[in-house]
Amino acid sequence: MTMDMELLQRYDAPVPRYTSYPTAPHFHAGIDAEVYRDWLAEIPAGERMSLYLHVPFCTRMCWYCGCHTKVVRQYQPVGDYAAVLDREIALTAGAVPKGREVSHVHWGGGTPTMLSPDDFSALMSALRERFDFAEDAEVAVEIDPRTLTREKAAAMAGAGVTRASLGVQDFNDIVQQAINRVQPFEMSAEVIDWLRGAGIEAINFDLMYGLPHQTVELVLHSVDLAVKLAPDRLALFGYAHVPWMKKHQQMIDESTLPGAAERLHQAEAAAGRLAEHGYRRIGLDHFARAEDSLTRALDEGRLRRNFQGYTDDQATALLGFGASAIGSLAQGYVQNAVPFGAYADAIKSGRLAVTRGVEVDADDRLRRAVIERLMCDLSVDLSAVGADLGAPPDGFAGELSALAPMARDGLVELDGSRVRITETGQPLMRTVCAVFDRYLGTGKGRHSRAV
Ligand code: SF4
Repeated sequence: MTMDMELLQRYDAPVPRYTSYPTAPHFHAGIDAEVYRDWLAEIPAGERMSLYLHVPFCTRMCWYCGCHTKVVRQYQPVGDYAAVLDREIALTAGAVPKGREVSHVHWGGGTPTMLSPDDFSALMSALRERFDFAEDAEVAVEIDPRTLTREKAAAMAGAGVTRASLGVQDFNDIVQQAINRVQPFEMSAEVIDWLRGAGIEAINFDLMYGLPHQTVELVLHSVDLAVKLAPDRLALFGYAHVPWMKKHQQMIDESTLPGAAERLHQAEAAAGRLAEHGYRRIGLDHFARAEDSLTRALDEGRLRRNFQGYTDDQATALLGFGASAIGSLAQGYVQNAVPFGAYADAIKSGRLAVTRGVEVDADDRLRRAVIERLMCDLSVDLSAVGADLGAPPDGFAGELSALAPMARDGLVELDGSRVRITETGQPLMRTVCAVFDRYLGTGKGRHSRAV
């Protein structure tokens, strides 16, 4: 059963993407570098850690961009930034007790491939020198094909990169011009050859729907072309038009943006086409081959959601490096200073650069677990999660009442304490999760619409 327009209009409210709970608009300045240092010292022995490194530079601004990044024309600021990252790696590693293994590294941005091969390799060496790496650690890098070279691909492979995630979005020239990101299919194909030739076998693609001038046909054409390059995983993100937060999005002519119904058709058509090509749907917006580790994690109830989207990484501590990078620890979330200058000044003076965050309490942990299971499994047993986290058995009576109209409309099924999002309700999964968000509507943050 597919969703009709009346239902979509009724439920398509602005809601968070739930890559964390509480979400980033609720971070505050009460969590600073000193708090972060204490939290790092308390990472329990035997815990696995995940590292995220943010490179906030690009050669050119894509008009749809929602990331913390800055356009630079010369290498010097990037090289200077690499030196600060190196210092931050040393400072952070010094605050973490020995014996905690790194299981996952993720380079994001911005554009990590702005780093020179030498700087990238040196930073990977610094990470390996300062932290203990698990033998099976995954090292993933987000790639802008326009800035990759054969030499960089070889350097990344030599530094132990195991997964490359390519930003593609759409292969149509008119769409690419409207988003200021011209990147022909042949360029992506060549980059894939370089990466695979260098030994980086695991390939992800990012595609988007809801971009200017996109139609169902164009989205399907991009899906078909992407599949020709045989990625292991694809992410299909809906363009979030938030020009009040991201000023460069004002460069997009709003009259060329597809409306809500068209966006839904694009998303559903692309999901259907990916299924025909043999990709399983994972959560909100990811797709993976049956044999992929993400699909196995889904089948085994081990799928997780974090700031990078969906992951099979089970690490309980995520340490962020770089301007604006977010980390997650058992005690709560932390975020580094967003302006490059403030971030660099802190690190150069020997301080960690965290300037805000939020501590999580027992109620946050419970709601976070419920939201994560819904975002990953589309199903949650509220009593079971509550029992795991020591909550009263009838703790979600109000939320179950709030879900009753959605159950009547076929978006969810309620069976005792179990909530299951139906196929019809899948595009509105964030709206279902929002029922469990006690901060929503407290006045902080504006979000994109659910579909
Ligand atoms: S390459 Fe990525 S981070 Fe850079 S402007 Fe484009 S979308 Fe934003």
